[in-house]
Amino acid sequence: MSKLAVDGGSPVRVEPFPAWPIYGELEERLLLEVVRSGKWGGVGAVHSSEFKEKLLQMERTFAELQQADYAVSVVNGTVAITVALQAAGVKPGDEVIVPPYTFIATASAALAFGAIPVFADIEEDTLLIDPDKVEKAITPRTKAIIPVHLAGAPANMSRIKEIAAKYKLKVIEDSAQAVGAQWEGRGVGSIGDLGTFSLQASKNLNAGEGGVIITNDKALWEEAWSICNVGRVPKGAWYQHERIGQNYRMTEFQAAILLAQMTRLEEQMQLREANVKLLDAWLGERDDIRLMKQDSRITRHANHLYMFRISSERSEQVDKNDFITKMNAEGIPVSYGYLSLNRNEAIIKATRAYTNDDRSYSCPVSERLCDKEVIWLNQSVLLADESAMNDIANAIGKVMASY
Ligand SMILES: *Cc1c(COP(=O)(O)O)cnc(C)c1O
Repeated sequence: MSKLAVDGGSPVRVEPFPAWPIYGELEERLLLEVVRSGKWGGVGAVHSSEFKEKLLQMERTFAELQQADYAVSVVNGTVAITVALQAAGVKPGDEVIVPPYTFIATASAALAFGAIPVFADIEEDTLLIDPDKVEKAITPRTKAIIPVHLAGAPANMSRIKEIAAKYKLKVIEDSAQAVGAQWEGRGVGSIGDLGTFSLQASKNLNAGEGGVIITNDKALWEEAWSICNVGRVPKGAWYQHERIGQNYRMTEFQAAILLAQMTRLEEQMQLREANVKLLDAWLGERDDIRLMKQDSRITRHANHLYMFRISSERSEQVDKNDFITKMNAEGIPVSYGYLSLNRNEAIIKATRAYTNDDRSYSCPVSERLCDKEVIWLNQSVLLADESAMNDIANAIGKVMASY
């Protein structure tokens, strides 16, 4: 059955994009090692007498990759944020500044224990949290800032660290999309007080589900480790619980998959980088498309997403949904991306319930870009070949010409 483009002709591309995840004999071998070892559970690194366990090895490798001293593996990236906030001392009722243009977990991880997300709008040209808006959002209740390294692009950590120092706030880097990314040569997640990562199936490093918290502060590591291990303490007795925690442990199976996936990461990053260069060059010539501006202090971009904008002028005639429908019919899997979180009813309801006021947030930049301009291509699309990138550019040209 042949598919047709929206104009009734043949689509620019009929071949599929690469399947995700990518795996091989190494994943199978390491998983089998876990099966045969009989050590399946995440017993907690510090309790293990044998340093051969895969969770420990994975945590060490991950910490090194991001240039951090300590890592704690957890069940997912959402819980990683909740734990990092709690480890940093954020309490129910405290305010946490977050961007509106992110996955819901950045905000809901705070609401999960009664902390209040406060939205600071994004920069139009990067879609990352705007440090000026962060400073304006600070109140006496503010305890932390969560910059999100969206799409794999580090947020302006230099400014955010300055603001945090000035107002004595903690910084939790939501690095779920940014494994491998660097700001001024420093691995993201190791720049603020704590950094959190997601290893969920769509992310650049994939364990099916999973998360990691990193830090350079031993006390924060112990705190986070303890929260993930039902309040136990490193090197304490098994039934010695010194704080209220939960069981948020990852399993050895996931660590096995991750150790294998990590051996593929650098090559995949380089392939994405090469393809992004091509797209930037081709799309950068168009005046109906805006590319993301990249701060020169971003020394490595993780390219979890390739985001571009229909230019503000052009978006008056080009309906975002219609553009996506037409691009999909041309065989290009572009997608709509996030809705602005400050307008999410569940978040508004929960926030009002916890604060007993009727607060709402206006984030005009995020709202407009969500509604009218931002288009996504995901990371696995960026693992295709040069001809695929050429098809993407050609399809954009063809669809734009239809308006
Ligand atoms: C994926 C993601 C999360 C949540 O991670 P999960 O592992 O799915 O719980 C949090 N923040 C951002 C920005 C994400 O992209």
